[in-house]
Amino acid sequence: MAKPTRRSIGTAKLQQKEKGECPYLNTCAFMVKYRELMEIYCMSMERVYCKGAKQQQCARLREKSRFGRFPSEDISPSGDKITTKG
Ligand code: SF4
Repeated sequence: MAKPTRRSIGTAKLQQKEKGECPYLNTCAFMVKYRELMEIYCMSMERVYCKGAKQQQCARLREKSRFGRFPSEDISPSGDKITTKG
């Protein structure tokens, strides 16, 4: 396999940017609720789902597409239900 070059890395980033981020990123109830509470987790979800290759697999987007509404704010992009104490 060819070693990545600066040019190929730049091309990959450009391709990622062209795919675009989720249009709901700023209003997504899950992200709004948990972005600060679970910062590292949300950054990871955002990279993989909201801005990444698995965006079309986001459980929230899939439910919106199927039923016309988003699931509970506690359902993560991977489909896990987040529960917090207190
Ligand atoms: S969690 Fe899903 S619906 Fe929410 S912004 Fe990310 S990709 Fe979009």
